[in-house]
Amino acid sequence: MHLNGNFKVNASRQQVWQRITNPGLMAACIPGCESIEQIDAATYQAVVAVGVGVVKAKFNLLVEVVEENPPFEVLSKTSGLEGGRTSTLTAENRVWLTELDDGTRVDYESEVSITGRLGKFGLGIMRKHVEKMSAKFAVNFQSGILEQGSPAEFSAIDEKVESENLATTSGQAYAQKIEEDSTNTSVSTQNALLWPKTVDEAVAVLSNTSGSQPLAGGATLIAMRNAGLIDVKQYVSLERVDGIQGITIQPDGSIRIGAMTRHRDTAACENLTGNLVVLRQAAGSIASMPVRNMGTMGGSLANADPAADYLAALTCVDASVEIVGPSGTRSIGINEFITDWYETVLGHGEIITAVILPPSCDGYSSYRKVARVSGDYAVASCAISTSAEKTIRIAIGGCGPSPIRLKHAEFSLGRGNFSDNEIDSYSGQLTRLADPVDDVRGSAEYRRNLIPQLVRDAFAGLEKNRGI
Ligand SMILES: Cc1cc2nc3c(=O)[nH]c(=O)nc-3n(C[C@H](O)[C@H](O)[C@H](O)COP(=O)(O)OP(=O)(O)OC[C@H]3O[C@@H](n4cnc5c(N)ncnc54)[C@H](O)[C@@H]3O)c2cc1C
Repeated sequence: MHLNGNFKVNASRQQVWQRITNPGLMAACIPGCESIEQIDAATYQAVVAVGVGVVKAKFNLLVEVVEENPPFEVLSKTSGLEGGRTSTLTAENRVWLTELDDGTRVDYESEVSITGRLGKFGLGIMRKHVEKMSAKFAVNFQSGILEQGSPAEFSAIDEKVESENLATTSGQAYAQKIEEDSTNTSVSTQNALLWPKTVDEAVAVLSNTSGSQPLAGGATLIAMRNAGLIDVKQYVSLERVDGIQGITIQPDGSIRIGAMTRHRDTAACENLTGNLVVLRQAAGSIASMPVRNMGTMGGSLANADPAADYLAALTCVDASVEIVGPSGTRSIGINEFITDWYETVLGHGEIITAVILPPSCDGYSSYRKVARVSGDYAVASCAISTSAEKTIRIAIGGCGPSPIRLKHAEFSLGRGNFSDNEIDSYSGQLTRLADPVDDVRGSAEYRRNLIPQLVRDAFAGLEKNRGI
């Protein structure tokens, strides 16, 4: 994968050169870099943690400076392995500096290859990830230059989430008992499976033990474990946790879908009426019956696969996600829940407990997806739902890290039928906002080309449901 870019620094070329050849300073700027050590005049050893979603890898990298032309250009080679695993990273890099009237422009280009665990995400996702790391490096480097500080003074380097353990007493007691049991019986917690009965207990063990992971139906997590993609010490099953199963209508008319609700139950739920039928349609489009029997609402959301069927449907009905963690309960809109490719706002020790939908209204909905074969994830999808205010809300899935929606351009239902021109103009705007990647299911260009047809098909489905 070829990467290139540039950024401007408010410092002279000489100052920039001194800093890019200072290993300590570079370590402080490279996102995820835990250490860097100079081996000899031209060789450095670094440990860099890279992660996409739940898959985390730590590379031991050797960086060799192949050619240095001070203060203009450095050519280097990077190679590394991920511990005893099969992941490898190799890169050939060139960085060059151009003096400007008001600073220095730093250009970089790199030919990068990543195989193994992170290779699973395909080049499209890895490219987005590495581009973001480069942008973050530029910000760190710029702030380091401005501060003229030592590496220790840099602030924007790491995003470690410090967990403030405020779990309740019952949860704490459970977590402590688990710890004592494993100490007393000298049972290794490697691959242990715990069955908490309350949300507090689940949160307490998840926040007190590093390497523990919530387990819902296991549809994705166990497949990832079997493929050697994740390192989990302790699985915390949510199967027996009280209060996070099933779909209920709340006193204010809103609908609560517990995190452990299986896709088959969402697909069959008669409480999802009117404009909320889109959720049933999306659930019914997921994979095959065995997967719908296993997979859960919470697991699908936490996994944040951009191709997942729920995401567009939840977006167009303005759903919110209920999260409980060591600091208490919070609720966050579905648009804010996904922060990047396979990344969510979920912090250390936090679990999704439910998804909340606004009360259903006497409206209509439609869900369309294009998949390579029946039962596969969507290449792209389109969900439409009408609101209580009689507007039509559309969301496109699979064409960015999270669904795309154009709130300002939503149609009013009162006017009756929509002209083809209106629908085309709307789908044109959505296509321009799309940020898809190339992957095994299709190219980014193919995904963009699918959007107009998907929107037209979803509108046709809406008209049908509306009986006109
Ligand atoms: C063969 C196959 C085909 C599939 N096809 C589709 C498809 O067409 N469309 C589609 O949308 N999906 C598809 N899926 C995904 C599937 O529907 C599940 O939604 C997904 O695998 C999550 O499964 P799960 O709920 O069992 O969660 P798990 O596999 O148990 O967990 C998944 C992740 O979520 C975390 N997690 C689980 N629950 C919570 C929680 N409450 N709070 C915080 N974190 C949590 C876990 O720690 C893990 O990281 C497919 C999966 C498979 C295996």
